[in-house]
Amino acid sequence: MYLNDNFWCEQVNHIPPLDLKRQYKIIGEQVSAAVQEVLTSGYYIGGSSVKSFEQQFAAYLGVSECIGCNSGTDALYLALRALDIGPGDEVITTPFTFIATAEVITAVGAQPVFVDIDAATFNLDITKIAVAITDKTKAIIPVHLFGQPMDMDAIMSVAQAHGIAVIEDCAQATGAQWRGKKVGSIGHIGCFSFFPTKNLGACGDGGAVVTNDDNLTASIRMLKEHGSSQRYYHEATGINSRLDAIQAAILAIKLSYLEQWNNARRQLAANYHQMLQPLSGVVVPQETASTHAVWNQYTIRLTKDSTSSKYRDQVRQQLQEKGVNSMIYYPIPLHLQPVYKTLGYQTGHFPVTEQVCNQVLSIPMFPELSFEEQQQVVYSLKDCLG
Ligand SMILES: *Cc1c(COP(=O)(O)O)cnc(C)c1O
Repeated sequence: MYLNDNFWCEQVNHIPPLDLKRQYKIIGEQVSAAVQEVLTSGYYIGGSSVKSFEQQFAAYLGVSECIGCNSGTDALYLALRALDIGPGDEVITTPFTFIATAEVITAVGAQPVFVDIDAATFNLDITKIAVAITDKTKAIIPVHLFGQPMDMDAIMSVAQAHGIAVIEDCAQATGAQWRGKKVGSIGHIGCFSFFPTKNLGACGDGGAVVTNDDNLTASIRMLKEHGSSQRYYHEATGINSRLDAIQAAILAIKLSYLEQWNNARRQLAANYHQMLQPLSGVVVPQETASTHAVWNQYTIRLTKDSTSSKYRDQVRQQLQEKGVNSMIYYPIPLHLQPVYKTLGYQTGHFPVTEQVCNQVLSIPMFPELSFEEQQQVVYSLKDCLG
């Protein structure tokens, strides 16, 4: 099975995992007008649409600075570089995330150190972080996976005790809150992706780094512009990473809908929760009292088999035959990926993550999903469970 780049698009007569065409039907006219405005302005790189989105996004999150960039991956890379993390350093993160989170650690020359997750939230197991910290540890990258915030109080107190930085990977959690604070505003740096499938998605690539630290802001802006804060004077090896003017204009419009969309996701999650919780062999994702989750994915676990993915894969196949398309985020934990063979991890190192990879199934979740469709998802799933 290999999915094409538009894997979220719908198959005829199927309930898709995500359908961006429905969103476009609602906001299309506004988006077209905004794009038209950028096109006629002649400012295609930088300019007022980028500046104004950066300010709006910072205000929305409650941070002083937002730096637009090309992708969530670049945002994480820039965060590590701005913190001077490189060869000889270690960065702690989760093995149950999209590759980008760990990839950037390797890209700056540092070493990813994985810590197992908590099956109830799919996020880092806070009790296992302290023992992974060494003299070389420079940062922790907690991921607010599927839109569910990490326990940021616990992360910040471990980090503070050891004098290490916290970079929040908020790619899947734009608008989520931990104890009333938006994620990305709590750690030293917050990183966001505007990939189309994220809660705040562009019509192409985009990302942002946010912080309250002026020195980090200056470094990030310097690094994303070829290591230059003064034109044609280069003080470091940087990269070229820009949020396009067109994407910024589109994102500004979508930002005004984000709370409404996130609330729709929360309602859908509550519906799923109620309908699925009674089913035996299904474990629904848990939201703690301190979090305001925004459900980029609604990911259940099929617990009948923990040692292989056979049962889950079979249910997924049968669901598809009944017209319900689901996704597997993520089938292989990062510590067992070929690229990380050299780190020396083996099967059995992170038993919770390994088990979860065999059991997870992300069912349709997007703001425009109807209650009738949700019911069809649940009835079909019931049938497949036997
Ligand atoms: C999407 C994603 C990224 C990378 O974002 P891009 O914009 O695709 O580069 C990083 N981390 C997580 C957890 C993601 O889901």
